[in-house]
Amino acid sequence: MKAYKFRIYPSKAQESEMMHHLWIAKNLWNELLFHAKMMYRDYERFPTRDAFQKMTKGSGLYSQAQQEIAHRVEGAIWRFCRLRKISRRAGFPRFKSLDRMKSIAYVQKGFRLGAKLKVTPFGEINMVKHREMEGGAKTLALKRESSGKWFAIFCVEEPPKVVKLNSGPRVGIDLGLQTFATLSDGNKITNPRHIRKYEERLAFLQRRLWHKHRGSRNRRKAKLRAARLYEKVKNSRRDFLHKTSKKLSDIYSLIALEDLSCQEMAETKLGKYINDAGWRTFSSMLCYKAENAGGKVVLVNPRGTTKTCSSCGKMQELQLSARVYACRGCGMVKDRDLNAAENILARATAGHAGSYACGEGAKETPLEEAGNQGHLPWCATTSLSHERAP
Ligand SMILES: [Zn+2]
Repeated sequence: MKAYKFRIYPSKAQESEMMHHLWIAKNLWNELLFHAKMMYRDYERFPTRDAFQKMTKGSGLYSQAQQEIAHRVEGAIWRFCRLRKISRRAGFPRFKSLDRMKSIAYVQKGFRLGAKLKVTPFGEINMVKHREMEGGAKTLALKRESSGKWFAIFCVEEPPKVVKLNSGPRVGIDLGLQTFATLSDGNKITNPRHIRKYEERLAFLQRRLWHKHRGSRNRRKAKLRAARLYEKVKNSRRDFLHKTSKKLSDIYSLIALEDLSCQEMAETKLGKYINDAGWRTFSSMLCYKAENAGGKVVLVNPRGTTKTCSSCGKMQELQLSARVYACRGCGMVKDRDLNAAENILARATAGHAGSYACGEGAKETPLEEAGNQGHLPWCATTSLSHERAP
């Protein structure tokens, strides 16, 4: 599935109608969630999908759209339960204010795309279709961003493509904060300066926002200003991630990354930093772009990648501030991130003479083969498929 996002320009009347629908959707979400909480309190189980769907009847939304809210609540609870099993940190889905209910979705029915976008209760909406879609749209989401702009997001099932196998070199990538990415062949990708400048300005606007009185007109204005800039930062960052991941997936046949979903990662690297959202997006972009370019992404266990010597395999403690890895065993001196990137690549290709490390095999590779001793086998998977529902 591929998502396309187009800007739409609803009329005043349409917009107020759409806002009204968001408001209903928000109330519906809250009601269903409340019901689920009560049911769990009394019977220690959650309502079924059918039960949720029955409760949405007569809400005033288009029938497809209200069912989709039921699915959303059910999905949120399901994800919560699943996360709870592996980590204690998961929080139960929250009640929403109107600001947090951003979209209404249509599955297969209720919309038609002509010169304008026709959506059942709202009529024809002006839309700027800046690119062609390959394939027919399966779902539509009407989304209101915090900046006040509206978008139509279509999910399209992609026709199968024949891809040539990429015969480029292999690379390990270490994602970081000071340098966005360090490649095992010595290349470095830095965070673009203009994005950092925006981010500083955004932080300033947000600090100022806290000093405004709640509910005041000034606060509303400041909030909108911050939201507009936030959107700009988000777009430039996404653009940067798209371009970078495209470039890398065109060049390399195998890209090794740290598996960000490993719990270890959450505790060591991400616990200290807040920037994981960008990394996650980047790694999922790499996954599908590499697949389209005939390459592969291998995710490896991040445990100890910075602490291990890429030359002799010994481990030693390394301070966070140390920029250079100096091995006490073999005397190797190397840039800290480069050392990590080389370890990441070594883990992805360990024990495989062929051109690709394959997912299931890599999981079972004994550690000794890589020359490392005394830690867990790494979890490696290949070419993850990513759902990109809005
Ligand atoms: Zn060494």
